[in-house]
Amino acid sequence: STLGTVAHTSSDDNTTEIHRARATLSPALKQATPVVVDHATGSWIHGTDGRSYLDFTTGIGVTSTGHCHPRVVAAAQEQCGKIIHAQYTTVMHQPLLELTDALGEVLPDGIDSVFYANSGSEAVEASIRLARMATGRPNIVVFQGGFHGRTVAAASLTTAGTRFSAGFSPLMSGVHMAPFPYAYRYGMDTDTAVDFALRELDYLFASRVAPNDTAAMLIEPVLGDGGYLPTPPAFLAGLRERADRHGIVLIVDEVQSGVGRTGKFWGHEFCDGLVPDILITAKGIASGFPISAIAAPTELMAKAWPGSQGGTYGGNAVAAAAGVATLAVIAEENLVDNARERGDQLLAGLATLAERVPAIGDVRGQGLMAGIEFIDPDASGSVPTANAAAAAKVQQACIDQDLLTLTCGPLGNVVRLIPALVVTADEIDSGLAR
Ligand code: PLP
Repeated sequence: STLGTVAHTSSDDNTTEIHRARATLSPALKQATPVVVDHATGSWIHGTDGRSYLDFTTGIGVTSTGHCHPRVVAAAQEQCGKIIHAQYTTVMHQPLLELTDALGEVLPDGIDSVFYANSGSEAVEASIRLARMATGRPNIVVFQGGFHGRTVAAASLTTAGTRFSAGFSPLMSGVHMAPFPYAYRYGMDTDTAVDFALRELDYLFASRVAPNDTAAMLIEPVLGDGGYLPTPPAFLAGLRERADRHGIVLIVDEVQSGVGRTGKFWGHEFCDGLVPDILITAKGIASGFPISAIAAPTELMAKAWPGSQGGTYGGNAVAAAAGVATLAVIAEENLVDNARERGDQLLAGLATLAERVPAIGDVRGQGLMAGIEFIDPDASGSVPTANAAAAAKVQQACIDQDLLTLTCGPLGNVVRLIPALVVTADEIDSGLAR
């Protein structure tokens, strides 16, 4: 049935009338499963169909503390009774001050100023505006397979598939793409791939994009929609070195990889000692309430003048209260350690599976971001042939076994698993069995 059409049975005369709603959901919304949620707890979604689904999607990496963690629910409920919305340019509210304090505990040294928006895309845009205002330079360098959102500017920075930007050009100008060290696809070991990608970056700077006209380099510590590819630490270190050399702002997009998901609090921490200039995060920070954060040293943040950043709902009080509770739960329940341990368990299980399934070309990830890349094992050629049909078939087979997964990758051939940070060893085993 279409969601807009509802059959009512009248209890009086037992006749059925069809109520045709005045609106239906847009065809642009392509739902991967027929599931309608009744309620959800922890790692489980309970559908109106009476089935319980093991959720390895977490609303695309959002419900970090699991669905409806009691502490998060209580914090949001309590905040609703105090104040729901107060605009931060007029009056400040307590939850945003507390969230800023809590973030101060976990942000890298020197990154001591935070601004808030509602979504990852808005945080990406804010970081680009800030980098351009701070440097007075136009160009932004992004890396192949990066995903930074769907607003027009964020889509301009996104190279994780044509579907995110085709058909609504012109996009934002001044964006230049450099290769990402995708070792598996290049048929290289990681060191060689990093060396190649850094040489290409230097070549881009030497031949086409003047580094002293470049405001920022924007990178995800683990490519998300681009196929769940961890960015090699040596590549991040190479970017830091070039950013320092040329006075370029290094922005790490931790919208998906942040807040414990990778088994460290921030994904960029896998590169020892790396301190970004701007860090943006969203998704897992408030367990499902929409809020994002842009963090930078005060001196840099001060280059954005008041009024140039933010929006009506940015830093909403209920979302901020949920964020404070989320960070407390992550600390008190040792969820970063759990993400690392359960992530190791998941990746080890997938590696065993890969040995038995020729269509699995690669298994990789970091913590609770696990990707399975499907290929055509019979195809000839020096580069793996993407097998999006196999990924879609696996996703469907998982749904049939009440396991929710997502696909991703520029070629659509990666199944990604994003369990909640509270996932248990039994739930990981159960997911692997399915
Ligand atoms: N950046 C990254 C790394 C993401 O994964 C996403 C969303 O998936 C975004 C930015 C955009 O976030 P949003 O969908 O909240 O606008």
